[in-house]
Amino acid sequence: MKNLIYVPLLMLLFLNCKSDQNTITVEQETTSEAAKNNTSESKKVNEFAIVIHGGAGTILRENMSAEDEAAYNAKLEEAIRVGHEILKNGGTSLYAVEKTINVLENSPLFNAGKGAVFTNAGTNELDASIMDGKTLNAGASAGTKTVKNPINLARAVMENSPHVMLSGEGAELFAKEQELELVEPSYFYTESRFKALERVKAAEANKTARDKTAFYDPTIKDSKFGTVGCVALDKNGNLAAGTSTGGMTNKRWGRIGDAPIIGAGTYANNATCAVSSTGWGEYFIRAMVAHDISALMDYKGLSLQEAAREVIQKKVPDLGGDGGIVAVDKNGNMVMEFNTAGMYRASMDASGKLTVGIYKD
Ligand code: ASP
Repeated sequence: MKNLIYVPLLMLLFLNCKSDQNTITVEQETTSEAAKNNTSESKKVNEFAIVIHGGAGTILRENMSAEDEAAYNAKLEEAIRVGHEILKNGGTSLYAVEKTINVLENSPLFNAGKGAVFTNAGTNELDASIMDGKTLNAGASAGTKTVKNPINLARAVMENSPHVMLSGEGAELFAKEQELELVEPSYFYTESRFKALERVKAAEANKTARDKTAFYDPTIKDSKFGTVGCVALDKNGNLAAGTSTGGMTNKRWGRIGDAPIIGAGTYANNATCAVSSTGWGEYFIRAMVAHDISALMDYKGLSLQEAAREVIQKKVPDLGGDGGIVAVDKNGNMVMEFNTAGMYRASMDASGKLTVGIYKD
């Protein structure tokens, strides 16, 4: 009789050992897979994480006043704390990305929303995109003049339309139907951006027709920084990325940059990472920057840091372009990589550790 009691106990013990063995086997597989992939980043380092940028370019300490520097740092911190709070409370990465970008869009400091740069015609034409790493669904809008927060329009395109990208008047019509906040075009006027347009126009006055495009003049290409972007990983392991911009000062002919192009300015995939770009858009489109980083992780087994370095320090400059990215991978590793003198940026991990930066060092 006594022995009979021991039988189920022994069975339980046996089963327990077996499941332990299974666990060990799985762990070993994961470890050896990581070794094969040469990725030291295969372990979850953050349950959730968020990284933002406010544009990359020739941002030099000597050109920045102490007040300006403090204002940028404060706004970056305010924005990232909004997203971090959402993630901490179990909100989705998509919501965190959208709300964080709204703070930056509503500030005149950045080339997005309120602070958008001017086109050659003296208008403001805004681009934005957002991507959901879980479903690979995406939404984008280009060339809008009356939508206060283009990132909200991008999200509405993703969720409430059968399309991925809408542009111009059609996009504005859709925004109206979606009851998004519309503003008069004059809402986007800021004196500093208008003066930048005047400077750029004066600088190109003696140029030939071909060189009058914003894209061939090194003095002009730097009149663009301030694009904003956000990437986030939420507690459910879902990644999201979003980017919003006014594009480049003096752009013309309905020029659209990389920011609203999925794979160039924005990309998110739960299998790899979420990326938001900023920089000289033409090159970021040609290098397919955001997707390329994900693809290097996916197909070549690179870590996020390695993939970002390859694209930003080699591929883009080899083509002649400049700029940077912020990214977070599925394990919560965060990267802020740029090949310019500076990039407005901030990151916050699950423990609440905050970093804010502007210059390279
Ligand atoms: N990438 C943006 C564009 O080319 C500009 C920027 O990031 O500053 O439109």
